[in-house]
Amino acid sequence: MATLKDFRNNIKPNWCPGCGDFSIQAAIQRAAASVGLEPEQLGVVSGIGCSGRISGYINAYGFHGVHGRSLPIAQGLKMANRELTVLAAGGDGDGFAIGMGHTVHAIRRNIDITYIVMDNQIYGLTKGQTSPRSSEGFKTKSTPAGSIESALSPLEVALAAGATFVAQSFSSNLKQLTALIEAGMKHKGFSFINVFSPCVTFNKVNTYDWFKENIVDLEETPDYDPSNRVMAMTKIMETNGLLTGLIYQNTSKTSYENLVPGFKEEALAKQNLKISEQEFDKL
Ligand code: SF4
Ligand code: MG
Repeated sequence: MATLKDFRNNIKPNWCPGCGDFSIQAAIQRAAASVGLEPEQLGVVSGIGCSGRISGYINAYGFHGVHGRSLPIAQGLKMANRELTVLAAGGDGDGFAIGMGHTVHAIRRNIDITYIVMDNQIYGLTKGQTSPRSSEGFKTKSTPAGSIESALSPLEVALAAGATFVAQSFSSNLKQLTALIEAGMKHKGFSFINVFSPCVTFNKVNTYDWFKENIVDLEETPDYDPSNRVMAMTKIMETNGLLTGLIYQNTSKTSYENLVPGFKEEALAKQNLKISEQEFDKL
């Protein structure tokens, strides 16, 4: 059985020292080992951005796609090989700006992949511009007088789009993050996991200390019920989206690939046996 070491390769990440993305890489590797995968049973697809490099830093099948397009590639991969555990990852610019259309439709489609957004509330790779997740008043080179737009609330969007698994974590909380990725990989449907991943080089507002002061951990919220969608939406709004933990899960919806006629077990069996439908029916 594969261990954490088997998901490591010898490529040294070129993220800045202290970048939150390191912990997300480690959490994915730990989760993959702990759910019992072998490296050849995992496919990691990423978009463009500092976070997009992650597909090269994990010993598994990897595909570094184009900007905002990790989800179309990941969905194609899952449809082509249902046996593969597919994980897509990218930044908030990648998933919530250029790729937002794909994000919403992949969520409502409920195809069985895990999607991790490495949310640093800025564009890091291009040296610090305001992103859809930057707060009102946020100053960067692209908004020198402060952003006049409101930040997107990805958890509200995911729930409204019909997500069957919504979670959020913080890159400093490796234990929680690993457990949520594990749960996402086991969930039979689309798993949306937003992760606060501080950009230590360009985002001087949403720092590790800022998150530590502002995050509300659902593990410390008694009577929270992640199967209650209304409670989930209320809690997101009450905390201004700064909650962490498993926010919502619905295990009763069949995942997309299991509803596609040509992908049903019996159809695949016929294909593998290479016999006609009539012959199959006689078996
Ligand atoms: Fe991480 Fe920011 Fe450096 Fe990119 S620029 S590697 S997001 S710290
Ligand atoms: Mg970003």
